[in-house]
Formats: sequence, structure tokens, C-alpha cells
Amino acid sequence: MSAAAPPVNGGFGSAAHVVVLGIDGIAVPEFLVELQGGRLPNFARIRANGRYSDHTRAVAPTWSKPNWASILYGADTSIHGVDSNDWRLDGPQAVPSIVGSAVPFPNLFSVLKAQEPDSATASIYAWPGISTLTLPRECVDFDREFADQDRKTIDCAKAHLLSAKPRLTFIHLDDVDHAGHDHGSGSEYRAALRTTDQMLGELLETIEAAGMKETTLLLIVSDHGRDSQGKDHGGWSLSEIETTWMAYGAMVPPAPTPETPLSTPVSLVDTSPTVLHALGLDQPLEWRGRPVLEVFGVKPKWVWAESAVRKQAA
Ligand SMILES: [Zn+2]
Repeated sequence: MSAAAPPVNGGFGSAAHVVVLGIDGIAVPEFLVELQGGRLPNFARIRANGRYSDHTRAVAPTWSKPNWASILYGADTSIHGVDSNDWRLDGPQAVPSIVGSAVPFPNLFSVLKAQEPDSATASIYAWPGISTLTLPRECVDFDREFADQDRKTIDCAKAHLLSAKPRLTFIHLDDVDHAGHDHGSGSEYRAALRTTDQMLGELLETIEAAGMKETTLLLIVSDHGRDSQGKDHGGWSLSEIETTWMAYGAMVPPAPTPETPLSTPVSLVDTSPTVLHALGLDQPLEWRGRPVLEVFGVKPKWVWAESAVRKQAA
């Protein structure tokens, strides 16, 4: 087996398109049961040929909106101020963001548009809360909400990818989270994971059919885990704060040893910085995350957990 080619510019500007597939509320233990049982073939393909971390950290509180905000804003709750699912820019705020109480925080869409006004952006989502985060509305060229309807959401995303080939596409699916809230861990939750896997397969086929396979970075991200019963979230337990994160595309070399997880500690706030890095764009200083360069084959310079210093101290 020949060594993989060294990454060019650390992956900066390596993607012409980015698709972020958001899947609400993935509990890693349940996900791994299905994956290891061979019942999530498309996720398995992503992980075998891309990179992933099942120890990706959400932010507190582990509600959906603070975490989708952290994903789209490249920053933590203390910076962006989105502290509950009820948060609105024009509503009461416990702590305003660092850019001010009435000013939209720089988000993935607005930051892209500031640098590339003519690039096409799309946000297609099953949870209405998403649209409160992507302000101003003009930064999203194609904005579609399908409340609680994953099938309509993915069908719309597929059609739009084929016709418009956006520079940035954000997709949010919600059925996995609903299954958890309604049933907790178990057969219904796992069935929702399998349905989502089928939708991921359709998305991969669409990216190929659109002629975007070689130029698209696909990030798969969830916003939080679940409590020990698999039902709720919002608290401060490891199973709620940990979730999964995956990267896949021609610019993402497989792990040196197959299916080895990323050694870089990943936070949800690293998602948008990784997107901008792949697109060759700069991130604003208000963001606190960093691109996960290991995704692009850049060997981490120094990871504390792997260091000789830590081994000596142990
Ligand atoms: Zn959620």
C-alpha cells in the first residue's frame, strides 16, 4: 500500500462545495450498536473512508438551539449567548453575544457571504429553530423549513443539490431526536437511525449524480447525546455532552490505520471553522473554534494525551 499523498496547503481551499448534514440527538452508544451490527451501511462507508470522532463535545446546556448555534457560530454559549431553545435575537437574553444584543452573531452563512457574495447557500431543515440562527435572512439564498418532516427535508435537499449545486448546503434531520424523546433507547430509536442511514445513502448518491463527488466535503454532525435512558438531554452528563462528528470527501484521506478515530479532540464549535478552511475562507475573530486539520491528513503537531510528557506523568 502506497503512502497517501501529503495534504496540499493543509486542506485549505480543498473543497468547492460543503454539505453539512445535521442529525439531531445522536446517542453514540445506540449508534454504535446499530453500526457494529452492520445495519448502518452508509455511515459505515463514511467512517471507513473518512474520519470521525465519537467523543465530540457539545456545549452546555445540551439543548438543541445552543448547540446548533455553536455548530453554525464557531463559538461556545458564553460567546454567542444562545442559552435555550427559546432564544431569539429579538427576545429577552440573559447574556447578549459578544457582538451585542441586537446584532446577528457571525454565522457560517453570513461569514461565507461576506467573503463571497455571489456564492449560493442553502439551509433545509426539519426543526424550525434553525432559521432563528441564520441571520440576516439574506445570507441564506435557499431557505426551506419542513417542520418535523425528514422525508420532505431530504427530498428537497436532494433536488436543490442537483439543480443549484450550492457552495454551502446545511441540512437538518430531526426524527432520531423525536424517537429518543418518545421512546428512549431501544428498537424505535434504532429504527430511526436506520432510516436516517438510508437518507444519508440517498444524499451520497445525489452528490455523485450532481457531479460533485470529487469536490464536496461532507460533514455529519449531531448537536448533543442523550441521558442514560436515551430519552432526554439538556443536562451535564457525559452521555449528553458527547456525540459524533464525521468528515468525508475526496480531500479527506482515510485514517492511516483503517477506521482509527481522530486523535484531535473535537468540539462542535470546530465545525464551521473546518467548513471555511475547506472552502479556503477566513474565519472571524469572534469565532473560537478551529479547523480540524487532521481531517485533511495533517498530522497533529502535539496532542497532550499522546505526548511523552503525559506518559511520564502517568
Ligand atoms: Zn437536539
